[in-house]
Amino acid sequence: MKQATRLLNYEAAPGDAYRPSAPPLYQTATFAQPSATEGGPYDYTRSGNPTRDLLQERIADLEGGGTCSTFASGMAAVAAVLRLCEVGDRVLCGDDLYGGTFRWLERCAPRAGISVQAVDLTDLEAVRVALAAGARLVLVETPTNPLQRIVDVRALAALAHDVGAWLAVDNSLLSPYLQAPLDLGADLAILSTTKHLSGHADCTGGAVTTRNDELAAQLAFHQNAEGTGLAPFEAWLLLRGMQTLGVRIEHAQRGAEQLAHWLESRPEVPRVHYAGLASHPGAALHASQARGAGSVISFSTGDAGLSRRLIEGLRLFHICVSFGSARSTISLPCAMSHASIPASVRDARGLAPDLVRISVGLEAASDLERDLARGLEGARPTSRERQLVPPRPNSADSAAESAP
Ligand SMILES: *Cc1c(COP(=O)(O)O)cnc(C)c1O
Repeated sequence: MKQATRLLNYEAAPGDAYRPSAPPLYQTATFAQPSATEGGPYDYTRSGNPTRDLLQERIADLEGGGTCSTFASGMAAVAAVLRLCEVGDRVLCGDDLYGGTFRWLERCAPRAGISVQAVDLTDLEAVRVALAAGARLVLVETPTNPLQRIVDVRALAALAHDVGAWLAVDNSLLSPYLQAPLDLGADLAILSTTKHLSGHADCTGGAVTTRNDELAAQLAFHQNAEGTGLAPFEAWLLLRGMQTLGVRIEHAQRGAEQLAHWLESRPEVPRVHYAGLASHPGAALHASQARGAGSVISFSTGDAGLSRRLIEGLRLFHICVSFGSARSTISLPCAMSHASIPASVRDARGLAPDLVRISVGLEAASDLERDLARGLEGARPTSRERQLVPPRPNSADSAAESAP
């Protein structure tokens, strides 16, 4: 069955006498028990809720099988995976990670007694050397965001398993519609459902799916013990949003392909990062492990001021963190989604302040292209501005604590 069909082939309310077509929302904290000593299938929503359970089954189905736990946000899902580690464990991670994940590894991991090593995961020899010291968990994103570097999930799974480590893939950028980490050998597939699964920027959420029963039990244990599970209403919104995941992704991806090619042809844009471009160094590897490059593109202009004027001059792209929404958004990652990474680290990782990221939505691609063309024209520095170039103080570092 194709993913597009799988998304719609489910029973909304197994066992319900009214046979509703859409999932019921069990907006309740408690469930009555048959007696003081007997329990029903549910007792308390922190521990279990039918609306959340249905969502978890739907996501596991989309991931190609396994057990899913959902959480209040993508970061809560990432944190739940890191909870699988114990004091003294080592985590090996990529060096181009989501800002919030970076912050957890930098600030929360030491408190949990976990040591972290970041390596360039595109360099398998460096990974082999780093893993020689042992590790509990290897944590990766591919394509990375916003630079869209591609890591070889199959090869990393083999290297991790050789030393007894689990491989976790944060698949938020593509969603399981386009990439199936568990089929590629990963032990854990992480998802910020805030992005494509919701698709409407109306709820936050996160999910972790695994085919390892022991890991699944530990994740469910922590979901209950720490109260980080996704609330029923957000689960219900996601069940609604997920039904259109296929058409949304297909449409947005076609738009992104068109815009990526167009941006590549523009003189103001020296570099476009999109794994669907033939010029992308990881294009072949990406094509071997995913069904498309998705709807997020980043590009540089070589001039942070021009990038800022560009994004502030557009009409159809909203200036927003996050991606995967029906409406197109645009951002400066260094000042927004990745502000929680210190400037020195951003510089070392090639995250330059002129980098622009767009998330292509469901508008007509021709309108988006026209908006960008007009924006690029309007953002050109005048000759007077070229002489002055006032450097804007970078307030991003002080914002690292509260940044998304
Ligand atoms: C957004 C995102 C997260 C965090 O998800 P939230 O729902 O914002 O907490 C984690 N990883 C990646 C790759 C993301 O894009």
